[in-house]
Amino acid sequence: VSAVEVTTAHLDRIAAVDERVHAFLHVDREGALAAARKVDNGEITGPLAGVPIAVKDVVTTKGVPTTAASKILEGWKPPYDATIVERLKQAGMPILGKTNMDEFAMGSSTEYSAYGATNNPWDLGRIPGGSGGGSSAALAAFEAPLAIGTDTGGSIRQPGAVTGTVGAKPTYGGTSRYGLIAFSSSLDTPGPCGRTVEDTALLHSVMAGYDPRDSTSINAPVPDVVKAARLGKNGDLSGVKLGVVKEFAGDGSEPGVLSSFHESLEKLVKLGAEIVEVSCPNFQYALPAYYLIAPSEASSNLARFDGVRYGLREGDDGNRSLEEVMSLTREAGFGAEVKRRIIIGTYALSSGYYDAYYGQAQKVRTLITRDFQSAFERVDVLVSPTTPFVAFPFGSRTSDPYQMYLADLFTIPTNLYGGPAISVPCGLSEGLPVGFQIMAPTMADDRMYRVAAALE
Ligand code: GLN
Repeated sequence: VSAVEVTTAHLDRIAAVDERVHAFLHVDREGALAAARKVDNGEITGPLAGVPIAVKDVVTTKGVPTTAASKILEGWKPPYDATIVERLKQAGMPILGKTNMDEFAMGSSTEYSAYGATNNPWDLGRIPGGSGGGSSAALAAFEAPLAIGTDTGGSIRQPGAVTGTVGAKPTYGGTSRYGLIAFSSSLDTPGPCGRTVEDTALLHSVMAGYDPRDSTSINAPVPDVVKAARLGKNGDLSGVKLGVVKEFAGDGSEPGVLSSFHESLEKLVKLGAEIVEVSCPNFQYALPAYYLIAPSEASSNLARFDGVRYGLREGDDGNRSLEEVMSLTREAGFGAEVKRRIIIGTYALSSGYYDAYYGQAQKVRTLITRDFQSAFERVDVLVSPTTPFVAFPFGSRTSDPYQMYLADLFTIPTNLYGGPAISVPCGLSEGLPVGFQIMAPTMADDRMYRVAAALE
């Protein structure tokens, strides 16, 4: 088949089902077909040339609307591409459109999108995870074969888990942040989403690698994740040590999630892996530390949405001061969760509270990093369920922010440390997908792909 045929088939699928799924905020039919024609003309070749892709709306795409699912960026067309988008284009991947998400990537259900939630293709009355629920739902509904996500506290892995798809958070700095709309700059990590581990690895290898335009980009060779995924497929895991984190054991996981997790562990043992129980005593503080660090950084990053530079401007009638226009714009343009984070963040950073909150959270971050480092002296990877619960019904966790935050209980430690982690489907609980998480040391992304492919 030609690239134009494959792309058209996906655009048709989107036209047929996205009214019900609502994975996309914007579909770029013309752009995608133009890119496909370049591949059919022979202008671009390569392993993913002609394979269409969906991109989370927090990633800038030149001339194509980018809103981060916020009203404050409605109608904004970025004048440049993110580095990862440039790389997709160089690889000949037609970009189908931009996917729905929680506003500014803050959330675990897409219910905080200013443009309405995405519905989980497994059960349209349930959430597809978040913040990158649109990307994962697009895969699960066969609207796209691959997608881009961003993971600050779990936003690639948790949507992957609850939609029965694969999602990988690369090593922090392994994929460029240039052109991401920043949420929490010391945590934000763009990464690949796919339906199989090998597909995900192929996309990983296209998007990863050093970028001089990102000051935290790692200037080192990208681990060979494709080779690792193919190696894992032969199923031999002899000599591989899997660490099960003791502290995660009973932590509020649904029984069906725990039983799928344990069945998967047994499968990995049959393939030759060895299970070692490890203790990471500081992981219990990861959630509170994250909910100080991420909002603190967000409060600074979101200061740029001032009604002057981009998108929405409210109340600018010629009689109001700059401050009034800024305040009216931010009042109208930001949703409740975003405002909550800005308030928490500015509070945690304010003088007098800085040492007690932000400073303390940074110390906890160091302790969590040490827990990972000492665990990886004993084991090759750490494993856990990706998320404590399967896709929940809409509205069931929005009244209490803490209930929503719990979705990322098992994913957040990795972000604080900076290592890579992947979620791979590992069975069903009451008919809904469960995810298995594999966490690896920084720059050992290949290890998690090997184990994930063996489990698949
Ligand atoms: N759910 C987490 C949050 O709301 C993680 C989000 C993310 O990874 N972008 O902050």
